[in-house]
Amino acid sequence: MANVKAPATADHGIGKVAVIGAGTMGHGIAQVAAMASHDTVLCDVDAAQLERALARIETTLDKGVRLGKVAASARDGALARLAGTGGPREAVDGADLVIEAVPEEMALKRRIFAEVEAAAPSGAILATNTSSLSVTEMGAALTAPHRFLGLHFFNPVHIMALVEVVKGNATDPAVVDRCLAFVHGLGKEPIVVADSPGFASSRLGIVLGLEAIRMVEAGVASPEDIDKAMVLGYRHPMGPLRLTDLVGLDVRLGIARYLHESLGSEAFRPPALLERMVAKGRLGKKAGRGFYDWDSRP
Ligand code: NAD
Repeated sequence: MANVKAPATADHGIGKVAVIGAGTMGHGIAQVAAMASHDTVLCDVDAAQLERALARIETTLDKGVRLGKVAASARDGALARLAGTGGPREAVDGADLVIEAVPEEMALKRRIFAEVEAAAPSGAILATNTSSLSVTEMGAALTAPHRFLGLHFFNPVHIMALVEVVKGNATDPAVVDRCLAFVHGLGKEPIVVADSPGFASSRLGIVLGLEAIRMVEAGVASPEDIDKAMVLGYRHPMGPLRLTDLVGLDVRLGIARYLHESLGSEAFRPPALLERMVAKGRLGKKAGRGFYDWDSRP
């Protein structure tokens, strides 16, 4: 579906935001929510991780101020609106929107939402940041699945403009509308996607990445030249193999396996080269090596 603009007058009625999970995504979501004037509580079971997340938000905002991209007063306001806690019940107390960003495990997420639903106000919207799991299945055990949906942010959250708003089978259209307005309020661009494996972004992006790997495997061109073909020939900001290195080859392999199984299309069959590289620990940037040698690159 094309980009959706919420009406300029839309009132999403979302004040306090609770973010469950303070990792890569959760800390970024909390940062952009606090910057958009929401009282924001970030929650993690791991106290050290929570502390790191709060420190990272401060560092990122400080850098923004230094670079002239963030006003010092906006940074100070965001930090004043941001709090951390280890308890999900405390986090969701009085929240209008709860966004879950814990690891990609259905059982864990369902457990968290059962606890969150019992503790959050009855009118609160409950959202998952899952990048692949079924939103309908995740919300099925809730007493009120109509207030449940996916809000799929991209990494790094403070830079990436896209948010996929994923409608489960039971999601109330009014909840979707409120979330569209909320996403616009964050200064981001939402798209509305039906609950379908890989949503819109991963499903399309992974095909390009896997085909690029098959082309390396077949000796069509070097990784550098395949990436150049997309950057210079198609104006992509980054080639598919460099992107695969940044995302992590193991992460992409997991998504490819899931989409291959759930959509049954050969386009998603994991290439043997990808399987081999993951088995050898060539996971991309985080491991220092993937399709590129990151230890000797800027
Ligand atoms: P992460 O591992 O960096 O962070 C997960 C955090 O959740 C950890 O800090 C962990 O301590 C915490 N956690 C675990 N159990 C918890 C609980 N019961 N209560 C509170 N906190 C708990 O993971 P991530 O990369 O931020 O991914 C989070 C979600 O976002 C996943 O569903 C993932 O698929 C999705 N996602 C990730 C990316 C990405 O690029 N990393 C992009 C889009 C979506």
